[in-house]
Amino acid sequence: DHPALRAALPVLLTLEAAGFEAVFVGGCVRDVLARRPVTDVDIATAARPEQVQRLFARTVPTGLQHGTVTVLHEGASYEVTTFRAEREYERHRRPADVVYIDVLERDLCRRDFTINAMAMRADGSVVDPFRGQSDLASGVIRAVGIARERFTEDALRMLRGLRFAAQYGAGPRPIHPDTWRALLECRMLLRHIALERVGTELDKMTAGRRPDAAWRMVLHSELLAHAAEPNAWPEQLHCAASGRERVLDLLGEHELLGGLAGADSRWAALSLASGLDARQARAWFRALRYSGARIRARSDLVAFHLDWIGSREPVEARWAEQTVRYGRATAAAWLALARACEPLAPAGPDELEALQTQLAHMPAVSLDELAVDGRDLMRLHGHKGGPWLQRQLHALLLAVASGSVRNTAEALLRHASELDEREGETT
Ligand code: ATP
Ligand code: MG
Repeated sequence: DHPALRAALPVLLTLEAAGFEAVFVGGCVRDVLARRPVTDVDIATAARPEQVQRLFARTVPTGLQHGTVTVLHEGASYEVTTFRAEREYERHRRPADVVYIDVLERDLCRRDFTINAMAMRADGSVVDPFRGQSDLASGVIRAVGIARERFTEDALRMLRGLRFAAQYGAGPRPIHPDTWRALLECRMLLRHIALERVGTELDKMTAGRRPDAAWRMVLHSELLAHAAEPNAWPEQLHCAASGRERVLDLLGEHELLGGLAGADSRWAALSLASGLDARQARAWFRALRYSGARIRARSDLVAFHLDWIGSREPVEARWAEQTVRYGRATAAAWLALARACEPLAPAGPDELEALQTQLAHMPAVSLDELAVDGRDLMRLHGHKGGPWLQRQLHALLLAVASGSVRNTAEALLRHASELDEREGETT
């Protein structure tokens, strides 16, 4: 009865009509039962990949070695994976080759947590051999089978567990005691996991529901002390170093992250709370293999904040200068950060309000928005270009951004000739 599943139903029915058992499986079943938005609909089937490919007009061989074929149907795409049991795990990572089995239940028992190990048939009936529905209802994250074995097979599951605990857990102990104990015992295995995958998982946690709860559990578990490239991690986040209590306090008392929209601001807040400077934050985000654009957005926000609190310039000039240096988007993101994170906030609400107004009326923050260009200034002064030109353009830009000169050719040229006389350094 869910729109996302209903849209995918013809794929299930096609497989069944051809004589193959087929079910919805994993995250989509969990989210339908939890009444959460469904992101992707995954299907598991007894049909082999080649059989799936033959049954549908449009397919993509996304992961044939894992038994996965993507089926395109009415503008949506579905991953259809053959029931499988994994043979053995190499070095605590998921293996490359798999053996196919015909039994749905064996497919479910290779999955990580009970809430992720449910399937739903075309008629809406739920296949739930590990009591995932009951765990979902009471907000308990519990490994399928013996937790220690599951974390030993694939150490990334520990981080996934913390993420699901934040997002689906309830109460003060959302992780089942056996699963939690196993997680603490298996922590050191995290070093086998590529930091890129750790980074992806942490990013999902940070961007998702209840990021503060997720990070509190990350800190309490001290899991990150065992991640690869230990030098990349802020000490405050990975072990009981001094400063950790403060971060925990900010995440607990103050809901540091939850009030912020978007992962970039949350990562910046986390870096600031941990006492990182912009260079350290950048190194951390690089180690987690985030994209250049994400690294830049996140570390610029950290740099913006630290510049702001370190500056003695008058507020308006400082705001103009930093907005010109970092751009409007970063200035706006910093305002949102300063508003939402009271303990980090360097200014009261009235001051932030004034900055907001100033930003909204800033007519130019980059040279291409300025009403004059280099050629106008060369003509005005009768000089060839040189270092003076960049300096003067920048001075004009700051004057416009801080509101002291209007962004018109006339006003700017008048101001430029005054600058020229005062400084006498255009040659
Ligand atoms: P989300 O999409 O919100 O990250 P999800 O549970 O759908 O959550 P996916 O990574 O999309 O996670 O995986 C789909 C399903 O595959 C999971 O629900 C789970 O059953 C299984 N799965 C994924 N990763 C693992 C893993 N590392 N170990 C065991 N099972 C896994
Ligand atoms: Mg998913």
